[in-house]
Amino acid sequence: GRGMKGLEINHVGFRYGERKALDDVSFNVEPGRFCALLGPNGAGKSTLFALLTRLVVAGEGTISVAGFDMARLPRAALARIGVVFQQPTLDLDMTVRRNLRYFAGLHGLSGRSAAIAIDRALAQLGMAERADELVRALNGGHRRRMEIARALIHQPQILLLDEATVGLDAASRQAITDHVHGLAQSGLAVLWATHLVDEIARPDQVVVLHRGRVLSDGPAAALAGDTGLANAFLAMTAEPQEAAS
Ligand code: ADP
Repeated sequence: GRGMKGLEINHVGFRYGERKALDDVSFNVEPGRFCALLGPNGAGKSTLFALLTRLVVAGEGTISVAGFDMARLPRAALARIGVVFQQPTLDLDMTVRRNLRYFAGLHGLSGRSAAIAIDRALAQLGMAERADELVRALNGGHRRRMEIARALIHQPQILLLDEATVGLDAASRQAITDHVHGLAQSGLAVLWATHLVDEIARPDQVVVLHRGRVLSDGPAAALAGDTGLANAFLAMTAEPQEAAS
């Protein structure tokens, strides 16, 4: 069979009551790939992340993480996922290292193995020299990088980030998108939810999600065509003009 598998999403659907938030969503993210999940507000990105992290349980379809089915083997699947949610969840009055040590403990790492995992993760985000600073003293971009480092401590094969650059300045956004592209190059399967086309590089995979449906899935360069990614995305997701009455 195949070697290491990434993320496989097959025919996933989800409803909030009558409202269909995801409708027959299917796509894969292979190891080593940066996949942008690109969709306007309300597209269903957060709902998909909730399913991928088992905050909610899927009604339809299957999700497989590194070969483990989320419904049948949820613990094995979740152990291979690192996630960075939109809302920061750091203790501001602890140092970076203490925050990460706490999280390492949740994954059963302590002592020397925790220290090694923490140093490695911080180095991956260029944060090694910040380890002993209080989180409160860090700027927004460094706090975000620390949250990404935290998501890597248990060495996941899939990294999920939900609008990871919200509220950051241009330089911080650039640093973070560059770091995460580097993580993909080192072998992670990355799913990066965004509505900002400038966070996407030409070799990236782009899945366009709109009103709960996948409108396209392929390399950014192909989607961009001659008109550019921004225009292509706008054309695909334009709302119909409201009829004057
Ligand atoms: P995105 O993250 O892309 O902005 P969401 O997944 O938050 O999209 O939302 C997808 C759709 O589901 C939207 O129409 C939204 O209004 C609806 N929705 C999201 N959360 C809930 C909820 N808890 N109850 C009802 N509808 C919801």
